[in-house]
Parts: sequence; C-alpha cells; structure tokens
Amino acid sequence: MNRNWHGVLLRHLLLLIGACLILGLLTGHYGLCLAVGLGGYLANTLRHLLRLQHWLRHQQPDEPPPEGNGLWGDVFDNIYNLQRKDSRARARLQGVIDRVQESTAALRDAVIMLDSDGNLEWWNPAADTLLGLKTPQDGGQPITNLVRHPRFKEYFEAEQYAEPLEMPSPLNDRLRLQFMVTRYGNNEHLMVVRDVTRIHQLEQMRKDFIANVSHELRTPLTVITGYLETLLDNAGHLNPRWLRALQQMQQQGSRMQTLLNDLLLLAKLEATDYPSDSYPVDVRAMLQSIVNDATALSGERHHQVTLEAPSDLWMKGSEPELRSAFSNLVFNGVKYTPDNGRVHVRWWQDETGLHLSVQDSGIGIEPKHISRLTERFYRVDSSRSSSTGGTGLGLAIVKHVLLRHKGSLDITSIPGKGSTFTCHFPQALRVPSTAADSTFA
Ligand code: ADP
Repeated sequence: MNRNWHGVLLRHLLLLIGACLILGLLTGHYGLCLAVGLGGYLANTLRHLLRLQHWLRHQQPDEPPPEGNGLWGDVFDNIYNLQRKDSRARARLQGVIDRVQESTAALRDAVIMLDSDGNLEWWNPAADTLLGLKTPQDGGQPITNLVRHPRFKEYFEAEQYAEPLEMPSPLNDRLRLQFMVTRYGNNEHLMVVRDVTRIHQLEQMRKDFIANVSHELRTPLTVITGYLETLLDNAGHLNPRWLRALQQMQQQGSRMQTLLNDLLLLAKLEATDYPSDSYPVDVRAMLQSIVNDATALSGERHHQVTLEAPSDLWMKGSEPELRSAFSNLVFNGVKYTPDNGRVHVRWWQDETGLHLSVQDSGIGIEPKHISRLTERFYRVDSSRSSSTGGTGLGLAIVKHVLLRHKGSLDITSIPGKGSTFTCHFPQALRVPSTAADSTFA
C-alpha cells in the first residue's frame, strides 16, 4: 500500500502525546505519563525490529513475514515483495544457466571456461572425453598442467589466439584436435576444442595425392623430354613441318617439369611445420649467387640487378628453402619488369628483426590482387604468366618457407611503377657474429 507515512507517523505521535497530556492532566503527573507513553512507543518499535531481524535470519524459503501493524507492516511487506522478485529473477537466471549447460553438455566439442590465470572454472562432459579432464577434481587447476603438451603450453602462454592450434590429442595420438581460445570479460578465457581428425585425414590425403601424382608423372615426362631433346639434336634430318611442333613440345615439357618440381617442393614444405635442416646461412653469399643467376636470366633484357647486404648478417634456417624463396622473389622481379628496368635486393636488420626486400621498377600489381598473390596458381594475368613461363606456385612456396621460419611476407605495389616484396624474420633467427665467423672459418 502506498501511504503517506510521514503524515500518519506525525498524527500517531501527536495523538500519543495528546493522550499522555490528557492523562497527565487527570492524574497530575505529566512527566510520568509522557515518559510511559513514549517508552511504550519505543518498546513497540523495538519489538517489531527484533521480529524483523529474527524473520530475516531464520526465514524458511517462501515463509511470509511476521504480522506487523502500521508502518512496520508495510516495511515487512515491502521486504517480502523484494525477496520474492529477487528469487523469481534468480530462478529465471538459473533456468537460462541450466539450459546453456544442458546444450553445451550435448555438444561434441569441448567447451572450457578458464579464469584470467588459466585455471579451470567450468567445462562440459566432452572436455572429459577429448582431453581427459576429471569432474570435479580438476576444478581450479591450471589448464597447462592438465593438457601437458609443449606446443599447447607455448600457444596458451603466447596469448596470440588469432589462429587456432592443431595438435594430436593428449589421450590418443591418432586423434587430431583443434584448440580455439577467445578472451572475454575480465581476461577470462573460453576454450573450444574440436575433433578435426577427419578433416586432417582428408587434408593429408590431398597432400599425399598431389605429391604422389607429381612424383609418378616425373619419370614419363623425363623420358618424353629426353627423346624430344635427342630428336631436336638431329633437327637436320627432320621434316621442317615437324620441327616447330617438336620445339613447342619440348618447351611445354620443360614447363611441366618446372611445375612438377614446384608441386613436389610445396608438398615437402607442407609435410612438416619446421625445417629439419636448420643451420647458419651466409645470406649475403646466397643472395649474391641469386643476383648473378637473375642477371643471367635477364640476358638481352639488360636489367640492372643490385644487392645491398652486410656480410656479417647470417641467419639460422634451411639454406635450400631460403634460396628457393628468395630466388622466386628476385626472378619475379626480373620477369615482371620491362627491359632495362631495375631490381634492388636489400638484406638488413633492425630492432624488429631481420628483413629482405626485393624492389623492382616493373609493371606493379593492382591492390585488389595483392592479398591473393600467395594462393596456389593465382595469377594476376594468366596470359602474362604463361609468356614468362611462370607456374603460379612461386609465391605460395615463398609463403610456406617464411611460415616455417616464423617469418611473414609484406607486399606493396604501385601499378606501372613497381613492387616491393619484403620478408620479415624474427630477431631470434639472427646468428651471433662469433658463431657466423666460426662457421665461416
Ligand atoms: P608465377 O610463377 O606466375 O610468377 P608467382 O606465385 O611467383 O607465380 O606469382 C603470382 C603472380 O603474382 C604472378 O602471376 C604475377 O602476376 C604476380 N607477380 C609476382 N611477382 C611480381 C612482381 N615482382 N611484379 C608484378 N607482378 C608480380
């Protein structure tokens, strides 16, 4: 009830004082009557306060409040209504939580909630099956203690969750799991783990298929191009009508050979995440020989290929892989730059790491193509590439080699003016000068 309790209280108090004064007039003891009247009022107030306190403390669920009169009755009712509203809201919230928990329990993907320190807060039953978590014993434990794998620990602690992590299940080597971590709220983590064994197997089959087909095609192709070469060596005995056909066959045969070699190299690069043969590489010497080859490739087209590289800046990596990546970039510079153009190769280091850039004064690339250049067989202009003998796999090889060396590729280009391809490597790959010297010695 919405009453004006100020007025009511004032009226009650005035009535009480009036009654006490009348009683005082009758008995002649004003002070005593007033003290008794106000004392009674205070006692009544205290009695209600005590009943309220007792009810709040020992209240059973849904137990109605004690009877009270006047303002106290209203206070009891208001508290009771607030409590009922609160418990209804809680029940609704619990219902939502129960439904979320039921649906995540039905999921085949593991859903795990971790606090800001990476300790387990909640997880669904699939997390028990996929990761071997134990309910409820593992609650509060750090996730890195429960999923014991160096790659997981490194991934979780690096806090770079843009890309998911894929690795074998800690319970069963044949299962392949994908971990995706998202941060939310107060730096808490939500981790979703999926079984991607099937997708992984299909991906593996695709890689194996390409590698096997390329391998199988190599032998017949070598035989065919070998015979073509022999025939062309004796061109004098051939009917001139056949000469042009044979020359074209040989040209296309050698294109196919380059294509197969690139496909095989890509398959090899995809087979593992890191180069197995990592050792100090004298990058300057390697670039010098690539620049020499590029000048030879340019030949009559007279490109000016220049190199700027300190001799003491060595890096750790796989020399054949790096040579293949860098030469693809430098040769592209020559291929896609008109005659007499410039290609400048620069190798340097700064506080952000090691860098190699290949800058040309060539035809350039429209911005819309740049993000897709490293896709296999992506060509800006297929007629242009076939005239340069490109396979469309060069930049895909560059991307894979850089990934395996924890590096990245940056492409900037202005159509008609030229392009710059820059490879960035982490500082950790730098070989200290003393090590480089001793290797050199
Ligand atoms: P390709 O074997 O066709 O050269 P790449 O993967 O090396 O294949 O390059 C993909 C495409 O990127 C090329 O077809 C070409 O259109 C473009 N491209 C690569 N490098 C350059 C460059 N330096 N200047 C202009 N375009 C380039």
